[in-house]
Amino acid sequence: MYADIIVDISHEKLDRPFQYLVPAGLEPVLEEGMCVKIPFGKGNRLIQGYVIELTMQCKFDPLKMKEIHSVVKSSAGVEAGMIRLAAWIRKNYGSTMIQALKTVLPAKKTVKQLEHRTIERIADRETLIAALGEAGRKKQAARERLLTQLLENERIPYEWVTGKLGVSGASINGLVQNGLIRVVTDSAYRNPVRCREQSGEKKQLSDKQQHIVDEVLSDFDGEKPGTYLIHGITGSGKTEVYMELVEQMVARGRQAIVLIPEIALTYQTLLRFYKRFGDRVSVMNSTLSAGEKYDQCERAKKGEIDVIIGPRSALFTPFPNIGVIIIDEEHENSYKSESTPKYHARETAKEVARMHGASLVLGSATPSLEAYYRACEGEYKLFTLKERLTGGTLPKVHTVDLREELREGNRSIFSRKLQELLSDRLQRGEQSMLFLNRRGYAGFISCRACGHVMKCPHCDVSLSEHRDGRLVCHYCGYAQPKVSNCPSCGSRYIMGFKAGTQQIEDKLKELYPQARVLRMDADTTKTKDSYEKILSAFSNGEADILIGTQMIVKGHDFPNVTLVGIIAADLSLSIGDYRAGERTFQLLTQAAGRAGRGARAGEVVIQTYQPEHYAVVHAANQDYESFYQEEILYREMLGYPPVSHMLAVQIFSQEEKSGMELAGYLARIASGFIENGESPACRMMILGPAPASIGRINDIFRFVFYIKYGKYDKLVQIKDVLEEKLSQYQGKENVQFDFDPMNVM
Ligand code: ADP
Ligand code: ZN
Ligand code: ZN
Repeated sequence: MYADIIVDISHEKLDRPFQYLVPAGLEPVLEEGMCVKIPFGKGNRLIQGYVIELTMQCKFDPLKMKEIHSVVKSSAGVEAGMIRLAAWIRKNYGSTMIQALKTVLPAKKTVKQLEHRTIERIADRETLIAALGEAGRKKQAARERLLTQLLENERIPYEWVTGKLGVSGASINGLVQNGLIRVVTDSAYRNPVRCREQSGEKKQLSDKQQHIVDEVLSDFDGEKPGTYLIHGITGSGKTEVYMELVEQMVARGRQAIVLIPEIALTYQTLLRFYKRFGDRVSVMNSTLSAGEKYDQCERAKKGEIDVIIGPRSALFTPFPNIGVIIIDEEHENSYKSESTPKYHARETAKEVARMHGASLVLGSATPSLEAYYRACEGEYKLFTLKERLTGGTLPKVHTVDLREELREGNRSIFSRKLQELLSDRLQRGEQSMLFLNRRGYAGFISCRACGHVMKCPHCDVSLSEHRDGRLVCHYCGYAQPKVSNCPSCGSRYIMGFKAGTQQIEDKLKELYPQARVLRMDADTTKTKDSYEKILSAFSNGEADILIGTQMIVKGHDFPNVTLVGIIAADLSLSIGDYRAGERTFQLLTQAAGRAGRGARAGEVVIQTYQPEHYAVVHAANQDYESFYQEEILYREMLGYPPVSHMLAVQIFSQEEKSGMELAGYLARIASGFIENGESPACRMMILGPAPASIGRINDIFRFVFYIKYGKYDKLVQIKDVLEEKLSQYQGKENVQFDFDPMNVM
């Protein structure tokens, strides 16, 4: 047996493991992650290293290979844990050990520290209030926003002010000149927020909330930490439960990891945690540089912080003794990594929790089928929070049948009901949101005479028509001028179908010339901060209507929105993915939840060609349980996750022929695992191989086949065998594994 060993666990050194012989005496005890002593260099100086992989494959001349000297006794440090976690990820999701290690270990500082700018209040409260009044009289909205924030907080990150708050550098300078604030630049890491009162008021938990906390803690204290799912609508008090759990764990000398989707990592949420935990909490997000992330990890290791909040990757914070891991909005797709290793944070968190003896708490308003299924199976404990604590009633939902609209002569993309309610809101000065599931979906150009669809020559996806008339590919950016005749049959009737977000905006302006309209989609959010700017403009009442893709349905609260229109609920129903129903239900529920957050009740219009589809019906009723019952039946019948498991084997190739051949070869090996005599319910099935749904991107051909099987372990075994075969394969193809994939490829 051979062991790959690294002598320095830092990102940069990972690519150069050294191979050593495992002496027979150590074979039974040696494990991945262990710290060992090895003879190193010319003088055979004894140094310490970590075993990252044990293998039967010899990479050098075995006669020249040195032997491991001994195992270092106390090798149960944080590093060993991270290596074991990487080994688990590699095994369960498929990747090289190096890729897995790079996923769990932070990159060391290589870049110069970025400078942080912070805006600090220097004037006293009275002066500030006076200035606020003046800004109000002069209608300086940006100034008002900043001053309001400064009343509550002594320090605010500069980027947040220019981004989310939408305050220009000039306005900030104005306040600096008036002696109200100063801009402080420091390079050392500091908490980005300092609150006036360090400890925020603690809410008296409701009986339901307290019950959850008690159950989780009593299991934990009884040394039986479990996994819990809190099914609770937005505003039902989940975050308050999380914070109490975190506090209790910290009191027990343990640390906490709180995962939140990046998009929901809002200043408001963070502020709540800061107010409660002060300097002991830290944030990990994508705006941090590699160096800053490394610093955070060092602080965690040294015990300088107890709580980390962040997206998926915050799961790998090297805490010595984790007590609880919380995953908020656990149904979010962003918890699944899109690059190899394609791990899922939920499952990986379960392994981290197991290693530390920690509790795992999941929360969502629309739980993933996976989580709810496990809860129904008794694997997770389920808690339900049904009431909104912030008040506000659930919105009234109208479902409109678009086929009927057409029959009755309405050819507009707005149904009569939606038009009626839009006019009403404009008159009353209330805000509306219009939601289109997917940008560009309907922007494709096709021939009404022969059916020819204009596609990207490199990517095999339909091109979308832009306002300037060009046809553009959303994958590779290829663009070509508009065509006036069909390249296939010559007909003049080649044109776009229905609407994208841009057309909705145009039509809206025709119908309501007086309305102030904002649009948020991938086109209008290309530049840094544009996303935050649009949201803050809308929340400041600078527009009457916000049009957007799924970006607008998440996270943000707009109390003045009393109407939400879903232009075509069907678009996400026809994406050719077994999760389409679940996606649609989630999107519709979230979108509907945007209406009526404030004092006035909201209304929702769902326009659809399939009003009878169960995802539409149950979303309209905000009825998760009924949706789940129908959806799980469908998954059971067709053997889809979570009832069964699915492994996608993806082949990327520069040549079509060799790619397809490799796919066929691998699929044949996999089919060797099909056993006779198993019950039909858990029979293994292989779908494909076939060119992926988008067959080619940037001239790389993509093939995929799927293996469906009830037992995850067996799929892992098959993956191991395929990896083994691939290690001997000479071709240039790249193969990736994706367990229970989130998207059809
Ligand atoms: P969720 O995370 O489910 O969206 P939150 O925890 O954010 O819910 O709670 C929603 C609102 O209700 C917040 O403003 C919060 O401060 C308040 N809240 C939560 N729990 C309580 C409680 N027990 N008593 C009073 N207010 C509460
Ligand atoms: Zn044609
Ligand atoms: Zn393309």
